[in-house]
Amino acid sequence: MGTVQYRPQTPLFIPLSPSGILHSDMKRRISILGSTGSIGTQTLDVIRDHPDVFEVVGLAGYRNLDLLNQQIEEFRPLLASAGEPNPQLNGDSGCRWSPEYLEGLTEVATLDEADTVVVATVGAAGLVPTLAALRAGKNVALANKEVLVMGGDILMAEARRLNRPIIPIDSEHSAILQCLQGESSHTIEKIVITASGGPFREWDVERIRRANIDEALNHPTWSMGKKITVDSATLLNKGLEVIEAHHLFDIDVDRIEVVIHPQSIIHSMVEFNDGAVIAQMGVPDMKVPIQYALTVPDRLPRRDPTLDLAALRQLTFDQPDFEKFPCLRMAFEACRKGGGYPAVLSVANEVSVDAFLNKRIPFGAISELIEAALEHHKDPSHLDFEAILQIDSQTRTFVNQRLTDKSNLQPSHPG
Ligand code: NAD
Ligand code: MG
Repeated sequence: MGTVQYRPQTPLFIPLSPSGILHSDMKRRISILGSTGSIGTQTLDVIRDHPDVFEVVGLAGYRNLDLLNQQIEEFRPLLASAGEPNPQLNGDSGCRWSPEYLEGLTEVATLDEADTVVVATVGAAGLVPTLAALRAGKNVALANKEVLVMGGDILMAEARRLNRPIIPIDSEHSAILQCLQGESSHTIEKIVITASGGPFREWDVERIRRANIDEALNHPTWSMGKKITVDSATLLNKGLEVIEAHHLFDIDVDRIEVVIHPQSIIHSMVEFNDGAVIAQMGVPDMKVPIQYALTVPDRLPRRDPTLDLAALRQLTFDQPDFEKFPCLRMAFEACRKGGGYPAVLSVANEVSVDAFLNKRIPFGAISELIEAALEHHKDPSHLDFEAILQIDSQTRTFVNQRLTDKSNLQPSHPG
């Protein structure tokens, strides 16, 4: 029997209130970063369903001002911010407006009246405000996985130091958290993260290389923002989730396994040292893990469709193909190397996916650009928060240079 390396006492297991949310007189006061996105709007759906339990105090949007204005009118937050200075607010909502974009995001993340901050921004945008939220004593409910991929070591150390929880919204990590409730952490043998396999699961390598935008955005089981949908097609999303799980559950990457499960019914599993495997199941609906992140360790009712296993008839599983999906391989390698490599992986991907969505590169060039950025990276001897921000900017510069140097890239695809 090998020794178990899992260390107990991650901040995840701190109960959010001694008697649980259902028995509290106080409403949970929530700020949402990225309120106009897929996770942001579904968080507001959950809040709308339970007005006696939740209250919105801060909203940060970006470009979709019409939707942000509607949200401000409906939820009447105390503070709002957007991706441009001094945007027009409808009517007299009583909402204070944070005039500057980046400062605004951090102002919403640290608002005095908030006890929980939902980080539903995408890419590196959530990094600085998430750290600020922790330091301001907030509970962080995190969807923006790139934040942990880039700064996991620093953020988790800060969360432990400050005794603040980082609660996952990602369905796989919510599943793992649910499987771990009441368990003793030293008995964990491994974590098994499920993946739908994305739209190209059964395609050959050449066809995947030439895939167009519509094909990449055609996810078989989940409806999500564009960036994560493309990440699900390259399987980098699963790679980011492996790194996210490594940080959240303080578990060695070699104890994390990915299994392809096209039906997306089992959201992830934990295997224990006696051979027992606990899985969390349900229809694919992000409102379930979002709500759990806001109520853990309690639960609130939901009226959405429930799981009908007899109608489904079968659940299937397969191994991931690391040759066909090099992004998943690179994510495991970056996690093993540690240091700044996961940040390079994430940022190179962010820039490449944006280029793909703007029809500047073919689908196959996403993994090539990530590989080039990882090869080019020289890891600093000391990795603090400043160093992560520097890696972010260096990686952006490197990939953007590659993008302007047309000779490195294949011609753009038509779709
Ligand atoms: P999305 O694109 O639908 O929404 C992103 C939100 O962030 C929007 O409100 C947008 O206005 C805002 N935003 C974008 N760029 C910004 C910037 N530079 N500064 C400030 N705000 C910015 O994305 P999404 O699908 O909601 O995903 C959000 C995060 O949650 C991602 O990290 C994703 O990987 C993760 N996640 C999403 C899902 C899902 O079902 N959508 C599931 C699991 C995890
Ligand atoms: Mg996920």
